[in-house]
Amino acid sequence: METTDAFAGLECVDCGATVGATESHRCPDCGGSLDPTYEYDAIDLDRETLGSRPLDSQWRYDELLPFARESAVTTNEGATPLVDCPDLADELGVERVLIKDEGRNPTGTSKDRGASVAVTAAAHHGATDVALPSTGNGGQAVAAYAGRAGLESHAYLPSRSGFTNKAMVNVHGGDMNVVGGRFGDAVGAFEEGLEEHDDWYSLRSFDTPYRHEGAKTLFYELVEQLEWTVPDAICYPTGTGTGLVGLGKAATEYRDLGLIDDLPALYAAQASGCAPIVEAFDDGRDDHDPVEHPDTICGELEIPDPAAGGRVLEAIRETDGGAVATEDPDILEAAVQVAQTTGLELIPSAAAAASGAWELAERGTFDGDETVVVVNTGSGNKEADVLRSHLMSQGV
Ligand SMILES: *Cc1c(COP(=O)(O)O)cnc(C)c1O
Ligand SMILES: [Zn+2]
Repeated sequence: METTDAFAGLECVDCGATVGATESHRCPDCGGSLDPTYEYDAIDLDRETLGSRPLDSQWRYDELLPFARESAVTTNEGATPLVDCPDLADELGVERVLIKDEGRNPTGTSKDRGASVAVTAAAHHGATDVALPSTGNGGQAVAAYAGRAGLESHAYLPSRSGFTNKAMVNVHGGDMNVVGGRFGDAVGAFEEGLEEHDDWYSLRSFDTPYRHEGAKTLFYELVEQLEWTVPDAICYPTGTGTGLVGLGKAATEYRDLGLIDDLPALYAAQASGCAPIVEAFDDGRDDHDPVEHPDTICGELEIPDPAAGGRVLEAIRETDGGAVATEDPDILEAAVQVAQTTGLELIPSAAAAASGAWELAERGTFDGDETVVVVNTGSGNKEADVLRSHLMSQGV
C-alpha cells in the first residue's frame, strides 16, 4: 500500500495501542477508535513552500495526510473561500467575522473532505463495497466518491433526510436505504447490513480513522487564507464531532510544526433540541449523556449520541473555547439574516454556528478585537425549502 512518507500508522485513542496502516477500522485490542499518526520530524513544510502551491484542492496538504495526492480519489474538494462579512462583525461587535464557505464543495458540504480521504483508504485496502449510516450529506458525499473509485456504496438515511440527499445518492449510483424514524434507527439498520455482509467496508465516522483526518484540511486552509494569523475563535456546527475533532488535531499539528504559535478557541455549536455536547460542557463533564428525545430542524445536528463526544469536549477545553446551543427559530432566522446581509447561503445546520456566535457575543464572550470564523458546513440550497418555510411562518 502506497502511503505518504511521514505517515506512521494508527493509534488507538482509548488504549494507546499502535497498529499498522493495514488495519482499517477499530482497535484490535479494545475496539476503540483509531487515529492516523505521523513522524512529524520527517515533515519539512514551511509557509513559503505552502504559499507557492495553488489553492486548488485539500490534497495540497498531502504531507499531512496518509495518502499521496497522485493516488487520491478526489474531485478537488476543499480550497473553499473564506469570505469577509463586515456587517456581521459590526453586529457581533468584533473586529472581523469571516465565513468559511464549505457549500462550495463538489457535493455542497464539508463532508467531501473526509469522504475523499476515507474512500481513498477503502480503495487502497481493496474494498469492493463501502457502507455508512448518515443524516444525509455524508451519504451523498460517499456515494459520489465511491462512484468515482468504482466501488459500490450503501447508505442508510433516516426518512427525515433532505430530498436532495436522497435524490443524489441515487444519481451517483449508490444503494440507498431509507429507514423509518430518526438517525438512531438508520444506525441500527446499517449495523444489521454490516453483519449480513462481511465484505462491506464501513465508512461510518470514527469507525474509519479517515473521515476526521480529512476534516483537518479546513484548518490548514483557514490560516493560510488569513495570512498565517490564527483566528481567535472558530464556531463549528457539531453533530458527530468529525469536523471539530479534525480542527483540533490540525491546529495542534500546525503549532507543533512551528507554522503557528497559538491555538484558536474552538466552539461547538448545536441546536437546543439536541445538544449533548453543550449540556456536558456546561455541567463540566468529560463525556456526554445521550439525548433521549432529539428533535431539531437541523437534521445534520440531530445526533443524540455522538461518537466523539469526549474528544470534542477535550478539544474545546484545551483551546479555551466552549459550546453553545440556540433554538431552532433563532437558527433559521440567523440563516435568513446572513443571506440578506452577506449574500451567502447557509444550510440550516450551519446556521446554528452563526446563531451560536451571536449568542456568544450577547453573553460577552468577545472583547471587540477578535477575528471570528463561522464555518458554513453546507450550501443553503440543499434545504431551501426549510428556509423558505421559516419565512412563511413569519408571514413573509
Ligand atoms: C455533518 C454535518 C454537520 C455536523 O458535522 P460533524 O462533523 O458530524 O460534527 C454540520 N453541518 C452539516 C451541513 C453537515 O453535513
Ligand atoms: Zn485500543
